[in-house]
Amino acid sequence: MKIAFIGLGNMGGPMALNLHKAGHEVQAFDLSQPACAKLAADGVAIAASATAAAQGAEAIITMLPASQHVEALFLGSNGQPGLLANIAKGALVIDSSTIAAATSQKVAKAAEASGIDFIDAPVSGGTGGAIAGTLTFMVGGSTAQLERARPLLEKMGANIFHAGAVGAGQTAKICNNMLLGILMVGTSEAIALGVANGLDPKVLSEIMRRSSGGNWALEKYNPYPGVQDNVPSSKGYAGGFGTDLMLKDLGLAQENAAAVKAATPLGGLARNLYATHSLSGHGALDFSSIIKILQKP
Ligand code: NAD
Repeated sequence: MKIAFIGLGNMGGPMALNLHKAGHEVQAFDLSQPACAKLAADGVAIAASATAAAQGAEAIITMLPASQHVEALFLGSNGQPGLLANIAKGALVIDSSTIAAATSQKVAKAAEASGIDFIDAPVSGGTGGAIAGTLTFMVGGSTAQLERARPLLEKMGANIFHAGAVGAGQTAKICNNMLLGILMVGTSEAIALGVANGLDPKVLSEIMRRSSGGNWALEKYNPYPGVQDNVPSSKGYAGGFGTDLMLKDLGLAQENAAAVKAATPLGGLARNLYATHSLSGHGALDFSSIIKILQKP
């Protein structure tokens, strides 16, 4: 299938590569030259612009940072037309970025008016899952649209869930990430307390992993450097899932909670902790670096 893939960052790069490896004709694009160069080195064709990538594509997949990037790309900005004007009628758009459900719904409505299918399909599983092709997709859209997307999603992920109508994938995603943000702070707090008492972080992590404190942040994404190989904490908190992206997701969760009058006290606290961390200049580091605010420098 002819696919346009736009947004080749920590997640989009390996996702586009998996589609290329599966034999699809991928035309990729990113505003960042280094991101394009990295994928070109793996043999993926790079287009000169998002519009060029979308030319004649049957499916357009986006993996962009936040709501404003998705809205500006598809609907246009500063008087310039958006990408929807350049996508063939009948094409399928899969947006895997984590954005506001309301933005997904707005873009889906405009797409529908142009005869284009649009689904939200945010992911979980981190960069490791993107590379391994084992991501979890949370899809918002009709059953028919999901079935259209499924063969492509299966090349990038291992679990595909239909959360509901368009926007529902985003709602599921921010519930998950609110929990993840809280778990990472709690895990960091517990390890920092143990280390302050002279415990070995590896031994403590193993004890908690096999006890009632076990959780994904502790087991798969340990925030303490050196406890696990191949996680951001053991690579200077480079790559992975940026603190500013976690801050964005916790902000989306708070906006949503306010709209439906839900009580999310720990989500609110976690958002403020990541905001403090970002204000100290750590926004670009992986979110597991939140442990820094709980440790002696
Ligand atoms: P990233 O910052 O590494 O990559 C985003 C890329 O989008 C960048 O390379 C940037 O240059 C590009 N970009 C921005 N605007 C563009 C435009 N108009 N046209 C073309 N390219 C554009 O971010 P990421 O970690 O890959 O995350 C992408 C999305 O996936 C975010 O919404 C994030 O919340 C979500 N997510 C990330 C992870 C993770 O572990 N990193 C996990 C699940 C979900």
